Order: sequence, then C-alpha cells, then structure tokens
Amino acid sequence: MTAFKTLDDLAPKGKRILVRVDLNVPMENGQVTDATRLERILPTIRDLAGRGGRVILLAHFGRPKGETFEERASPGESLRPVAVALAGLLGQPIAFAGNCIGPDAETAVAALGDGEVLCLENTRFHKGEEKNDAAFTAALAALGDAYVNDAFSAAHRAHASTEGLARHLPAYAGRTMEAELRALDAALGAPTRPVMAIVGGAKVSTKLDLLGNLVAKVDCLVIGGGMANTFLAARGVNVGKSLCEHDLVATAREIEAKAKAAGCEILLPTDALLAKEFKANPLHRAAPVTSVGPEEMILDAGPTATEIIIAKLDSMKTLVWNGPLGAFELQPFDTATVAVARAAAALTNAGKLVSVAGGGDTVAAVNHAGVGEALSYVSTAGGAFLEWMEGKELPGVKALSA
Ligand code: AMP
Repeated sequence: MTAFKTLDDLAPKGKRILVRVDLNVPMENGQVTDATRLERILPTIRDLAGRGGRVILLAHFGRPKGETFEERASPGESLRPVAVALAGLLGQPIAFAGNCIGPDAETAVAALGDGEVLCLENTRFHKGEEKNDAAFTAALAALGDAYVNDAFSAAHRAHASTEGLARHLPAYAGRTMEAELRALDAALGAPTRPVMAIVGGAKVSTKLDLLGNLVAKVDCLVIGGGMANTFLAARGVNVGKSLCEHDLVATAREIEAKAKAAGCEILLPTDALLAKEFKANPLHRAAPVTSVGPEEMILDAGPTATEIIIAKLDSMKTLVWNGPLGAFELQPFDTATVAVARAAAALTNAGKLVSVAGGGDTVAAVNHAGVGEALSYVSTAGGAFLEWMEGKELPGVKALSA
C-alpha cells in the first residue's frame, strides 16, 4: 500500500486545515434524504476540531455547468443546506461562506477560532476545480496551513480539491479515507489468501477492466447477475430472453482464458430462477441454466448455485464483492444475493473472513440483506471503488503518498 500520513501525524491546534469531504448527498426539497456520507466524515471533523484545529470543509455538489461563477452558482447546487444538516449531526454550529475562494472565503476563514468549523461553497462553482487549474488551486491553498483528504469517493478524479491541493500543502488522509485505504488493501492489495471476488450486476460492458484485473489477482471469481448470462452464452448455453450482451461473448471467452492462465477459478451459476416477466413475484421456476426456455429470463442464481458459492466461500479468507447476483430489487430475485451476503456476514463475524463490498447497487444490496454493518467494510464510493477494483491508481490517493 502507498504510505500516507494520517491525522496522527498532524498537530492541528491553531492551524487552518482544509478538509476535502464528500458532501454529495441525495436531497429532496432542500432536505438531505440519506445522511450516510455525512456520518462518515464526523470522526475526522471531531478529531481535528477536538484538538483545536480550525476546520475548513471543502466539497463539490452536483454537476454545475457554465463558464463563470455566476453561471455555475445555482441555488439548487449550493452546499448551504447540506452544511445545516451536517451541523445538526455534528452537534456544533458550522459557519458558511458563499464562495470557496476570494474575499468571502478569506473573511470567513479569518473569523474562525480554534475548534470551530466552516464550510465553503461548492468547489465546482469554479471551472478551475475540475480542470485542476493552478491559479484556482493556489487560491484554495492560501486559505489553509494543512490539507486533509477524507473523500475517497472523489479520489479517482484529479481535481484541485482532490489532488492539486496535496501538492501545495502538507497532506494527510482523514479517518474515513484511512479506514477505506486499509480495508481495500486488506482485500486486494496484500490479502490473506485464498481470495474470492464476486462480481454481479447488469452488464459485462461496464466491468470489463474490473474482470480483467480481478482474474489476475484472486483465486476464485464468482460471476453473477445479468453479466453471468454473457459468460453462459459464451460457453454455448441458450439464455433465452435473458439480459445478455451477445456481442461480448468473444470478450467473455478471453476473460475465461486469462483466468485459466492465472489459475483463477471462475464460478458461473449452474442453475437459476427463471421468469417470463421482469417484475416482482411473477410466475417463476428454479431450473438448470441449460434448460432456459425461449421466452424465459435468468433473473437470479438458483438454489444449487447459491449453495455452491456459499460452500466455496467457506474455504476463503478474503472476499471482495461488487454487484448483486440477481435482479435483487424484485422479489424473489434477491434470494441468492441475500443468502450469500448473510453467509459472508456470518463468516466475518466468526473471524474467518475479511469481507469488503462496495460500489453503487452493492451497498443497497447488502443493506437489503441486513448485513451492511456485519461485513468488514462497505464502501459507499461508487466510481472510485470500481476504479480501485480495476487496479487503477487513484490520483487523490497517490497525491497523499508520504
Ligand atoms: P450494476 O449497477 O452493474 O451493479 O447492476 C445492478 C443491476 O443489475 C441491478 O439493478 C439488478 O437488478 C440488475 N441485475 C442483476 N442481475 C440481473 C439479471 N439476471 N437480469 C437483469 N438485471 C439484473
């Protein structure tokens, strides 16, 4: 793992500390509808403020468009209501500046006392943020004495607040970033073997790089969800009306060959839950994948396949998981995902398995199975988690290297 400094290496008292956080939370009618990301940054804010640091929060929100600040600064993409919600969770007031650079920001920073917290307006109200522009980065850097990055979810972007600042100021990983990096390292960097990866979800096309990287790193790769259908088709199985990228069967065969050469076992479902309609509780049956009717769709791994995955998992020491094994939003096609998630949680609980899950729907799936808290680590980072699974070096993480 790349070496990085943590908050343990920082003496924050009296210092102005620019803390890059993830405030990109879902909102409806001005209210935060899921505060998970806000809760995750509380340890870093409390640590720094508790030790007398002057905490200056930096974050982006949404995707503002336009050339100038005036064009980009739409009230619907202001961080102000998010800062209010965060202050409620923190149990401490958070000051707000209507611009992340310039006189507004400078005045607000100058007014900060030790142990106080300030949130600066959406960094993406400036075009220079996404361009990692030198003048914009320098203007941000002038506001602080040190830089802390606690936003792993934005670390796959080389933006001013996620990467550029680390080149201007002494840089540290926040508590959540630190936990995330350690968990990811335990899962794929230097894992205890044998390692299983489960990759599910809708399509192979979105996860080609990820599959290519994993077969070279893990001992067993379980392919589930809609993407398994493309692999089954590549093995000559008739998948009926299932979601299947027939144009990628050659690619699927290449991935299988690469896995074989690397000594990685690929597990595909041997049986499945089949239905003719994509909806909750339709008429359905469990059957071997070799007997899919022309009108039928594979919508979940079947009971035998689920047993095989769970039995295999029992002999593993590490699990890394992205993507559901079936159309888990529709019952009963959540069955395999729920059963495997619970088995992983039980093994983790018994101290036999390190389990890391993440990326988009996976968080929803493990929460649906009721085991979000029971796995070793669940990453809420979408794109960054996937890029990490693809084996890419994340610029925001690289920039922290000590
Ligand atoms: P992803 O975002 O690639 O992880 O894909 C997640 C989506 O894949 C979920 O919405 C699932 O409903 C969907 N999915 C998983 N398995 C299947 C399947 N067998 N057929 C259709 N959709 C599926």
